[in-house]
Amino acid sequence: LSSKGTNKSDHGPRKKARLSAPPGPSFKESLHQQRKQLPIYSGKDAVVDMIRENDVTVLIGETGSGKTTQVPQYLLEAGLSGSGMIAITQPRKVAATSLASRVASEQSTSVGSLVGYSVRFDEACSSDTRIKYVTDGMLVRELLGDPLLSRYSVVIVDEAHERTLRTDLLLANLKTLLRTRNAPTSAVREGAKGKGKGKGKERASEKLNPLKVVIMSATLEAEKFSKFFGGAQVVYVKGRQHPVTIYHTKTSQPDYVDAAFRTFFQIHTDRPSGDVLIFLPGQEDIESLEKSIQLYANQLPKDASGVLVCPMYAALPPSQQTKIFSPTPAGMRKCILATNIAETSITIPGVKYVIDTGKCKEKRYLAKHTGTGFDTLLTRDITQSSAVQRAGRAGREGKGFCFRLYTEEAFNALPITAEPEILRCTLTSSVLQLRCLSQNLEELDLMDTPEESSIAFALIALVLLGALDNRRSLTPLGRKMAAFPLEPPLARALLAAPELGCTSEVLAIVSVLSSSSSLFVNSHDARDAAADARRKFRHPSGDHLTILNVVRAYEDVAGAESKAGRRDWCRKMFLNERCLAEAVNIRAQLRDVCERQQIDWRVGVGDSQGAESAILRAMVQGLVQNTAFLQPDGSYKQVMGHTILKIHPSSSLVDKKVPAIIYDELVYTTHIYARGVSAIPRNFIAEVPLLKQRTR
Ligand code: ADP
Ligand code: MG
Repeated sequence: LSSKGTNKSDHGPRKKARLSAPPGPSFKESLHQQRKQLPIYSGKDAVVDMIRENDVTVLIGETGSGKTTQVPQYLLEAGLSGSGMIAITQPRKVAATSLASRVASEQSTSVGSLVGYSVRFDEACSSDTRIKYVTDGMLVRELLGDPLLSRYSVVIVDEAHERTLRTDLLLANLKTLLRTRNAPTSAVREGAKGKGKGKGKERASEKLNPLKVVIMSATLEAEKFSKFFGGAQVVYVKGRQHPVTIYHTKTSQPDYVDAAFRTFFQIHTDRPSGDVLIFLPGQEDIESLEKSIQLYANQLPKDASGVLVCPMYAALPPSQQTKIFSPTPAGMRKCILATNIAETSITIPGVKYVIDTGKCKEKRYLAKHTGTGFDTLLTRDITQSSAVQRAGRAGREGKGFCFRLYTEEAFNALPITAEPEILRCTLTSSVLQLRCLSQNLEELDLMDTPEESSIAFALIALVLLGALDNRRSLTPLGRKMAAFPLEPPLARALLAAPELGCTSEVLAIVSVLSSSSSLFVNSHDARDAAADARRKFRHPSGDHLTILNVVRAYEDVAGAESKAGRRDWCRKMFLNERCLAEAVNIRAQLRDVCERQQIDWRVGVGDSQGAESAILRAMVQGLVQNTAFLQPDGSYKQVMGHTILKIHPSSSLVDKKVPAIIYDELVYTTHIYARGVSAIPRNFIAEVPLLKQRTR
């Protein structure tokens, strides 16, 4: 995505305004002091020299030693970036944006100038940007437009031990890129063959700065990375870890949220001052624990010290992130409730106690039956390596304590490290992106190679979406799909819309579906009022057109009301304004992509007759694999697969029996549930081009 587009809603600039107040001199001085006190500071010259002398360097260092924030600044100051930029990849969006703003203030600038970031649907960069924090997915996407990553002189792959799918794809591409960009001039011509067409490209690569690659990680898996890059140099940064006393429970604690609650208040009443960091699997648990801690803390006697609860998870709005890093007020104890984002990517100062529930969420491909499968987020046990990292967070500033809410036997039974994501997730969008680079996943030099069946599944999905033809070659439609920063099914739905005259409506729906938070607010206290409000938007066909009704109503309010009025309306309607505001921002960016693809995004069906069927027809083209027929027993069976599913209770269609449905995703709890469901006539499915061909 270009850096335009991002400022179109009030979402983007607000984020920037928060960070742009120039810090005063004393603040600057103290930041300068803090930088000098970081463990990595004493090894600065060694690190810089090592990177200067080698194409690839593996840098291992304790969390909080200063790798992520300092190394890019050292390299810039040492002139190692030449005329290019330094990219630092992060697996998570929040980490990328929050680290960029930290480093910007260390450089006494506002984020978006010298130091910027680029994550999906959000970017703060300019022509002055030299240090850029990016998600690993964003950099893989940049390869599509710039296969040599020619804008970058240094690419730092951070948090490499997490082995996300995108990090693995990036590592594989960097390996080939190093050969192309750093080869002697004559070899460059060889290497660049096939990549760039014609002489222009070849000459461009000759002029490029050589590429430096730095792999950074908090855990000691250096050898594997070093070996992958043909025996790359490894540097270890010595940390300043203080001893941490670890406690295990005597029995297992199935209700880990309740156990965390009790443990927190034990610490709060019995132990000296020091902040508490609680690791929980996800946002729902964090929000529920936040409520109960807050409630109980308010009832503590007046003379007891207060509790400052700070949640930290991926979808947390930036305005609330700052609270976590600001010093704990005197007489208070900070209680940080975090997902594994606080394990290695973000270091929060002041933590003395860690409570570890031993749980995390993990994306996993569920393929119970051959030929079908879906990614789902499952709460599962962490690994020993995660448990060690979590405990380590307590000992950064002094002696610390870690309370594991599981037994020692359970700890010993945990797997040592996690399985790389490439071995456990669907590969559809990656296979498509690679095809656009004329690469085949199965031929790529990867650290770990996925199973054949999971590549086959991705290929089938892409053929069904029309991105690949029957001979598995990329189609023009596939290339267009890849231009959108969307999951392939949503990109396909959007590209089906122009022919059906409903681009504007499908854009609105797809933008909400791509937002990081949910549209409807669930309220336990006001369940009836929430249901009443929701009924106002309900469309008989189901959730997709219901979303459209909400977007239209929000647009009317946004046009007529002040910001406060808008917020008030959302609250009354039990709608999540953050989701709607984010969707406005996403839509602005998707419109830009539409324009570049010569698609008129203004075209819409409005309230014309046939509007509903046009929109649903477009959605079916994208969600073709997410279709199911009603069974005699009232459950639904996948059309392309054998999975039996039910409609999720959150859907407006939950009690309805309709002949056929499409859905956005499957979730697996007590049953397999379809979420985001619409009723469709059965014949819409047969209209999908490939299926039509087959039935002819
Ligand atoms: P590493 O990458 O080695 O884990 P970092 O460079 O992320 O280390 O962190 C170095 C220091 O910067 C830590 O002490 C951390 O607390 C501090 N820090 C990072 N981000 C922020 C922020 N947004 N606000 C305040 N301090 C921060
Ligand atoms: Mg780091």
